Amino acid sequence: MGVPEPAASAEVLLAELLGVRRSELASYPGPLSEEQAALYEGWISRRVKREPVQRILGYAYFRNLRLELDEHALIPRPDTESVVDAALEAVDRRDGSCRVLDVGTGSGTISISIAQERSSCDVHATDYSEGALWIARRNAERAGAKVRFHRADLTSGLDALEGSVELLVSNPPYVRSTDIPDLAPEVRDWDPHPALDGGPDGLDFYRRIFAGAAPLLADGADVVLEVGDEQAEEVLEIGRCAGYIPLGTHPDLAGTPRAALLRWGSS
Ligand code: GLN
Repeated sequence: MGVPEPAASAEVLLAELLGVRRSELASYPGPLSEEQAALYEGWISRRVKREPVQRILGYAYFRNLRLELDEHALIPRPDTESVVDAALEAVDRRDGSCRVLDVGTGSGTISISIAQERSSCDVHATDYSEGALWIARRNAERAGAKVRFHRADLTSGLDALEGSVELLVSNPPYVRSTDIPDLAPEVRDWDPHPALDGGPDGLDFYRRIFAGAAPLLADGADVVLEVGDEQAEEVLEIGRCAGYIPLGTHPDLAGTPRAALLRWGSS
């Protein structure tokens, strides 16, 4: 199978190369300089080999942000924008200000968006990968967003936050290990497998997050977790068994439940 939507890739790459909007390409006075043409040819040949547009460019757009990428972090997905919407709704129910913890932040996608869009929040974020954290810190700085990054295996070693986190959010790895070989080449060959691989049933990280996060959560804390297709109900059930109150789901742009919503504690 060839490159999906080849015209879209070709146009986005050209627009980024020229620094114009995609819609402005048709009226671009042209021609390309030799250097531009050579660069563009190089980019197109990489795309033909199924390297994602965002990896070729070295950055991705997400909500208001342009995030630099790192080989240790997933390319931010449009689906995750709806997870941020769900998280912001929870922040707004708390008058726009609360302590947030984003577990496995990657290039900083969720944590930086929350910090940038709700600047009164006290936003913390973890990742296992030093490389991802390095790029996340740069991304936060560039966005003017204040996020405190911690190197951690999920929620481990965050004792200083004990009982104080009011919003827990995460886009954990959730692909079943055996499904990874069947993913699109753009994902399988370019996204880091530790950020994708959710174990035999894809749900390992939900179990670990529910168990590990509990001591950090304030009574009544909101929990917003991105889920894969058809995982929402199972994730809500795993949470219920771990002592959380399932609240429901939040859809992505296609209407698919993309976030599982839960509450910790009694209120
Ligand atoms: N949405 C990604 C994919 O399947 C998976 C991301 C994740 O595991 N959190 O392409």
